[in-house]
Amino acid sequence: MPLYGGIEAGGTKFVCAVASGADDFRAEIRFPTTTPDETLAQAIDFFRAQHAQEPLHAIGVACFGPIDPNPASPTFGYVTTTPKPHWAHTDVVGRLQAALNLPVGFDTDVNGAALGEHRWGAAQGLDTFVYLTIGTGLGGGGMVNGHLLHGLMHSEMGHMRVPHDRMRDPYPGQCTYHGDCWEGLACGPAIEGRWQTKGQHLPPDHPAWALEAHYLALGVVNIIMTLSPQRIIMGGGVMDQQQIFPMVRREVQTLLNGYIQKPAIQEDIDHYIVPPGLGNRAGVLGAVALAMDAAQQAGGKA
Ligand code: ADP
Ligand code: ZN
Repeated sequence: MPLYGGIEAGGTKFVCAVASGADDFRAEIRFPTTTPDETLAQAIDFFRAQHAQEPLHAIGVACFGPIDPNPASPTFGYVTTTPKPHWAHTDVVGRLQAALNLPVGFDTDVNGAALGEHRWGAAQGLDTFVYLTIGTGLGGGGMVNGHLLHGLMHSEMGHMRVPHDRMRDPYPGQCTYHGDCWEGLACGPAIEGRWQTKGQHLPPDHPAWALEAHYLALGVVNIIMTLSPQRIIMGGGVMDQQQIFPMVRREVQTLLNGYIQKPAIQEDIDHYIVPPGLGNRAGVLGAVALAMDAAQQAGGKA
């Protein structure tokens, strides 16, 4: 079984792994995201050591963004305009390729996770679905008609606008660009900013969760109306609060108000809005899936 390297490149931490697939996970390392020099060197050291034991066929990077995922663009493989200190205009793919001399697959963290879920997880057999992460940020990616969502750049679903009732919720939102966009109201740091307590320390019956479910449902309904996904997968640290899944599902049904007459939504919503099938390995296995595709493309070109 050929081996691949995957990097889940998060704004907070990097997870690097070696695997031949979801059932054959060989090694993993995690470290904080600091500067590109230090963090990419740590990833390169790990993969060099792994490669010396048994050769890797490609590397995949599922990366925080914004990024340039267009192979025809001169800045393909870059983290582009991120507000994260030190990382704007970093050539992630170029540095990895130069150091490791392997094909490198590259996409957003959420497109990567979507690809992994499609191959091994909760989106097997589907051709149009969305993967959302609700963590430090709020992002969405996925597939439409069997292809990962790209376009002008990549989806930025987290920055869609959702209704904000300032009587019910005076919190202004925390997005540096928009204030109370979807991410600004519903990401992990927004929960912390609103309640002055990190989400992981709020009890399961705290009113924070009904409000969170309300905001998540508003965005999910917009996505249903826009892309008509066959399933929506919701991951990220905030969704570790398993009790919000039923609240989100119920609120989505209420907001849709019977308009989408499909059993998936009306009768079987428990299988329509779901956690990742790959659990907390969705991100890094998604990166492995990106590596497999990169190896195949490189093979095809040779
Ligand atoms: P990252 O965004 O770096 O991939 P996470 O997905 O874990 O990491 O997101 C971190 C955010 O999620 C933080 O704002 C944190 O407070 C929140 N969070 C993490 N775990 C939980 C939890 N169990 N319940 C609620 N919020 C959580
Ligand atoms: Zn925003």
